[in-house]
Amino acid sequence: MHWNKKFECMPLDQLKAFQLKNLKKTVAWVFDKVPFYTRKFKKLGISANDLKHIDDISKLPFTVKNDLRDNYPFGLCALPMDDIIGIHASSGTTGTPITNVYTQADLDQWAECVARNLWAYGVRKKDIVQNAYGYGLFTGGLGLHYGLLKIGCSIIPTSSGITERQVKLLKDFKPTALCSTPSYALTIAEKAEEMNIDIRKLPLKIGIFGAEPWTREMCSAIEERMGITALNIFGLTEMCGPGVGYECSVGQNGSHINEDHFIAEILDTKTFKPVPMGEKGELVFTSIQRQAMPLIRYRTKDITRFIPEKCSCGRTFVKIDRIFGRTDDMLIISGVNIFPSQIESFLFDIKEVDPQYRLIVRKKGYLDKLIVQVEARQEVYDKGEETRKQVEAKINSHIKDNIGISVDVNLVKPKFIGRSLGKAVRVVDER
Ligand code: AMP
Ligand code: ZN
Repeated sequence: MHWNKKFECMPLDQLKAFQLKNLKKTVAWVFDKVPFYTRKFKKLGISANDLKHIDDISKLPFTVKNDLRDNYPFGLCALPMDDIIGIHASSGTTGTPITNVYTQADLDQWAECVARNLWAYGVRKKDIVQNAYGYGLFTGGLGLHYGLLKIGCSIIPTSSGITERQVKLLKDFKPTALCSTPSYALTIAEKAEEMNIDIRKLPLKIGIFGAEPWTREMCSAIEERMGITALNIFGLTEMCGPGVGYECSVGQNGSHINEDHFIAEILDTKTFKPVPMGEKGELVFTSIQRQAMPLIRYRTKDITRFIPEKCSCGRTFVKIDRIFGRTDDMLIISGVNIFPSQIESFLFDIKEVDPQYRLIVRKKGYLDKLIVQVEARQEVYDKGEETRKQVEAKINSHIKDNIGISVDVNLVKPKFIGRSLGKAVRVVDER
C-alpha cells in the first residue's frame, strides 16, 4: 500500500534529520544561485550554517506570490535555461502569471510524488486512467501524466473539455480511474445523465480530484453520482504542481504531505508564528529537493490545519485537513469572514438545488452584499415562482442560522451557471 515505504513511513527523528540536511543544502544552493535570495539572506545576515535544528526554518524569510511576479518569468531560476527541460505556469486569476521551471531531476521527483499519491489511492499498473486535467501550461494534466507513467498505467490523455467525448470514452475505453478537478467531474456526471449513461454501472471506481477547494459534501455528491471513491490530491505550481499532498485510502480525512520533498508550516495569518497543533492558519511550504526553482517559506494563502492524530495507514508524513479557503478568497460581508466553501456546504443541505453555484459580491450603498446564485433542480424550477421564492427564503434562513448574515438568494434555472473545464469560478466580485 506504500509506493516508497522508506520515506513515507520514515521514523520521525530520521525524517526531521533528512529535512534539516536538505533544507541546509537548498538554502546554500539558492544563496549561491538566485540573486533574489542572496539579497534577502544577506539583509538578514543568515546562511545555511545558522540552521542547527529544523525549527530554525523560522529564521528564514518568506517568499510571496508577488516575488514570483516581480521575477517573472525566470528570475528565480537557479540554473541556466540550458539545464531546463520543462516550463509550467499558473494563469492566476489576476495579473502576471507565475512560472515554475524543471530539470530532469525535478520532473523525476514530481513523478515520484504523484506516483505515491496514485498508489495510495489504489491505482496500479493494470488500471486504465482517463486524465481529464488540462494538458498544457497548467501543471494538472502533465503532472498526473508523469505519475501515471511511473506506475505504468494505460493513460487516456483526454485533457479537459469536449465533455460528451469524456463520457463516451468512459463508456468505450472503460477506464477504472478518472483524474480531473472536482467541479469538472460534476460536469462530466451531469453530461452522462443527459446522455442517459449511468456511470455507476461502468468499471470506473476511483476519482482523483483536486486543484481547487471542495467540501466533503461535494465529495459525497460526486461519489454517489459516479459510483466511485473520490480522493483528494493537493498541489500548487510553485512547488511542482499536483502531488504535494495526498489522501490515503484510510478514512479520506486529510492529505499527507510528501515531507521529504516539502516542509510544511501552518502559521497565524497575523503574527506569522506557528499556530498550536490542530489550529487553522496559512499553509507555508519550502521545497527541499528541487534544483531549478526551490522556494523558501512560500506563503500559499491557503487556510488549513494539521491533523494531530497519527494516521493508521503507517505513513509518518504529517496530514493537512481540506483547504478551507484562501486568504485572498475570503469575503468579508457585514464584518463576517466567509469562505465560498462554507456556502457550498450549506447549499448541499438543501435538496431542492443542484450543487452549481456562484457568489456575486456587489456594493449596495456603502455596504457589501452577497448574492448566492444557485441552480434549482428542474422539477423545482418547473413548479413556478412561488415555490422558487420559498426555496430562496429557505436557503437564506439556513445561511443566516449558521453564519448570522442575511444574503440575497437568486434561484436560477438548471444549466444557467457556466460549467468549468478546470477550476470553477465561484466568486464574481462586482465591487
Ligand atoms: P495552481 O498552482 O494554479 O494549480 O493553484 C494552486 C492552488 O489551488 C493551491 O494553492 C490551492 O489554493 C488550490 N488547490 C490545489 N489543490 C487543491 C485541493 N486538493 N484542495 C483545495 N485546493 C486546492
Ligand atoms: Zn494515512
